Amino acid sequence: MIRVLVNGADGRMGSQVVKAVYEDKDLEFVGGVSVTNIGKDAGELAGVGALGIAIREGLGQALDDIKPDVVVDFTTPKVIFENAKTCIEHGVNMVVGTTGLTAEQRGELAALAEQRKTSIFIAPNFSIGAVLMMKLSEEVAPYLPDVEIIELHHNNKLDAPSGTAIMTANKIDAARKAANAQQAPDKTHESLDGARGAKVDDIPIHSVRLPGYVAHQQVLFGGYGELLTIRHDSIDRKSFMPGVILAVKKVSSRPGLTFGLENYL
Ligand code: NAP
Repeated sequence: MIRVLVNGADGRMGSQVVKAVYEDKDLEFVGGVSVTNIGKDAGELAGVGALGIAIREGLGQALDDIKPDVVVDFTTPKVIFENAKTCIEHGVNMVVGTTGLTAEQRGELAALAEQRKTSIFIAPNFSIGAVLMMKLSEEVAPYLPDVEIIELHHNNKLDAPSGTAIMTANKIDAARKAANAQQAPDKTHESLDGARGAKVDDIPIHSVRLPGYVAHQQVLFGGYGELLTIRHDSIDRKSFMPGVILAVKKVSSRPGLTFGLENYL
């Protein structure tokens, strides 16, 4: 049995992870940490009934007391870097779903994980469909190098652009450069800042935030006289759980830092 602690266990994603871990026969849910709902039963909050495991405060102390094999983190962009350092320093393997880590921070965590012989896995998106959307986008990019991304999320998402949109742009740009594919000139003058989106690797990303959305993305490729759109919709947070469970089971197999679910598929 792999003993799993969930950080952010009472959140939208964290409570789904508590349920998914509880329902998996190879995993044992051993602890939940958050900043609110302290003392409340994590199973009741996740909708699986009382598990006798109360939500507690303080990740470091929880690691000392519970000694889990793996921590799954779905908290907030503000705290994820510190959380990741805490886990690595405690020698506990980690699966990170929280977005917002910069490439520099990932570099620091990679070095620390290597030094402490710990594994950390980070995925901006745990859904299989989203991973395939990125893979297909990489394949199209050398042939249709003119591309823009629209990502649409619920209005409670704290960061913009989404981690998935940034990762998609990074992959498309790498594929374009490897093929030496040339983009068409963009002749538009922006009379209002942001009208053409925010650029990542020279690819405009447009972030929509509205109640009703879960997590959606469109990758729009344009050619002369033709358009190709790749679209992915996560309409339920359940879509992320098979990827999270896979990562929990595989994280110890790859020492150091691993980035992206495609590494486990
Ligand atoms: P959420 O509902 O706000 O959940 C975050 C939880 O973390 C809340 O319960 C929050 O408590 C708690 N928290 C805040 N600070 C904490 C700390 N220092 N220690 C422990 N717990 C803390 O957000 P969500 O929708 O679940 O999303 C969480 C993260 O996952 C976001 O970064 C989101 O972008 C990302 N995400 C990733 C994927 C993926 O596939 N990788 C998919 C969906 C979402 P309070 O409510 O009291 O602040």
